[in-house]
Amino acid sequence: VLKWALSTFGDSFAIATSFQKEGMVIVDMAVRLNPRVRVFTLDTGRLPDETYLMMDAVKKRYAIDVEVVRPDPAEVADMVSSRGVDLFYESPDNRRLCCEIRKVRPLERKLAGLEAWAVGLRRDQSCERAETPKVQSLDGRVKISPLADWDRSRVDAYVSRRKLPVHPLYTRGFATIGCAPCTRSVKPGEDERAGRWWWEQNESKECGIHVTAAGLVRRSGLH
Ligand code: SF4
Repeated sequence: VLKWALSTFGDSFAIATSFQKEGMVIVDMAVRLNPRVRVFTLDTGRLPDETYLMMDAVKKRYAIDVEVVRPDPAEVADMVSSRGVDLFYESPDNRRLCCEIRKVRPLERKLAGLEAWAVGLRRDQSCERAETPKVQSLDGRVKISPLADWDRSRVDAYVSRRKLPVHPLYTRGFATIGCAPCTRSVKPGEDERAGRWWWEQNESKECGIHVTAAGLVRRSGLH
């Protein structure tokens, strides 16, 4: 799938990664297919320090640039001024607004310059991801999930076999890596996404970057 994406879309294709294990597998495979593959990450402004260390480790190991996508400073300033720095703890709507401004809108701006992008979604991560296709047409672009049918042990085996850089928070019990204030470690037997927005009950464990932004805005009533 990656080989097809690289040959079909060339420089209009990029890998989106937050330096979790799945993203590292995809970057590792893609660099071996094309050392000039484009890689980008969303820097929400609330990432843990360890994620910046990972960014440096990836750049060094693969001799690639990592394109950093950031939110609009004016939008962040307005939001923080009207609702507070840690607004997401107050309500699900506040959390969705923060994700929209810090993640969804910057991603949309980045995707406007791409024909296709790859992400590290796996079907067994949560019921919301259970139907993830490997290749999907979305808002006029192609979204690729090369590891959709991989399970966690297959990812771990690849990471170990290729000795890939591993985000330090995994060793502290994190199953997924996101923004520092919104991600915690998980207990044995908990869903992999349980560490996201753990204070919310009965809310989706998705931030909106894996649905269309228009859908997110419609559902949340924000905007
Ligand atoms: Fe904001 Fe938390 Fe979403 Fe990050 S994960 S954008 S800090 S609400």
